[in-house]
Amino acid sequence: MMKFDHIIIRYGEISTKKRNRKGFVDKLKANIRWVLEEFSNAKLSANRERMYILLYGEDPQDIIERLKGVFGIQSLSPALKVGKDIEEIKSAAVYYFEQLSEKVSTFKITTKRSDKDFPYNTDELNHILGGHLLENTEGITVDVKKPDFNLRVEVRREAIYLTGEVIPGAGGLPLGSSGKAMLMLSGGIDSPVAGFLSMKRGLEIECIHFYSPPFTSERSRQKTVDLAEKLAEVSGSMKLHIVPFTEIQLLIQKQIPENYTMTSTRRLMLRIADKIRERQEAMAIITGESLGQVASQTLSSMYAINEVTNTPILRPLITIDKTDIIGMARDLNTLEISNRPYEDCCTVFTPASPKTKPRREKVAFYESFVDFDALIDEAVQKTEILTVSGVKGRKSDLEELENLF
Ligand code: ATP
Ligand code: MG
Repeated sequence: MMKFDHIIIRYGEISTKKRNRKGFVDKLKANIRWVLEEFSNAKLSANRERMYILLYGEDPQDIIERLKGVFGIQSLSPALKVGKDIEEIKSAAVYYFEQLSEKVSTFKITTKRSDKDFPYNTDELNHILGGHLLENTEGITVDVKKPDFNLRVEVRREAIYLTGEVIPGAGGLPLGSSGKAMLMLSGGIDSPVAGFLSMKRGLEIECIHFYSPPFTSERSRQKTVDLAEKLAEVSGSMKLHIVPFTEIQLLIQKQIPENYTMTSTRRLMLRIADKIRERQEAMAIITGESLGQVASQTLSSMYAINEVTNTPILRPLITIDKTDIIGMARDLNTLEISNRPYEDCCTVFTPASPKTKPRREKVAFYESFVDFDALIDEAVQKTEILTVSGVKGRKSDLEELENLF
């Protein structure tokens, strides 16, 4: 019985980045090997332009589903290698049509021939195969200008190759190819989405979560663990640093004027996150902030909060509207987890009217009377590190994310 025997993988953006190409391709290879681990017969081969998965009997559809979630892949095409026998090529063409993931009503055939000894030239092959398809496939007609589907036939010396369906991949850059950053992960909607977008851009991430027992419950901590698990579906596993933050929050409540507690809380979170970042040898901090969403996310707030570090703060959602972020979270299957009721360590202590235009000098002045250093070090030291692992093959969610851009 006929079956696809290889899958062509196109890199897209990687191939334009000449200098780093080798590093990118190596990461992509490793990531693909990981998602395809259980398909033990499949082999991966790569050249400068493309990769090929040689299936050796493994199911092409299952493998394509997995590959669709791998960042750095622009597109995929199942392909077929056949002998140089005209009857074999004809049945392969019919098989290709039967396997198409979407129904097509018009087609054309494009033949390329590098083996000039093959007894049929390109026009002849186009005609023979076109005629055969019209006779053997229901409801299709030829359209050479704008066909729904273009079946490509390549006649080479060693064999003949059939391909044509182009399945979009997840895009982005291979996970880990852009370095490592720390994601500040709350139980909310935004930060997990920011995490996905960062991974899509090639960042390896670790998560940091601040919690304040007994003001926040075990349930709200579990939420963060569940969200980290979702992120781990992309990367295999995910480190989650859980920072005990109660003492610092209580000290802030006691020592900082109420309308500045929120600003100060954020500054202290950032200082701690930065220390953990340094220890983990990451080079940036990611947040789920979106401009103007809440009091802590006005430009004045960011200006006042950001003063405590000059580490790059990446804010993938900064210009994205809330409704769009919610849409992304839904598609990524994190929305349901984020929407579970919980007490955030920030909401618990949020003052009735936080300053929307806090001033740097003021918050720094208020903080200058309090010795936070020892508590910061203690919080870092008492931080618990969990490693959660994700289930492979969640993939279709990531495809959805593609549609939003
Ligand atoms: P999110 O939906 O991600 O919770 P938000 O709209 O609730 O964001 P804020 O509460 O102002 O906005 O938080 C802004 C960002 O600060 C979050 O996206 C997250 O990156 C970080 N953050 C807030 N609270 C925590 C926390 N408890 N632990 C870790 N990071 C946090
Ligand atoms: Mg929040």
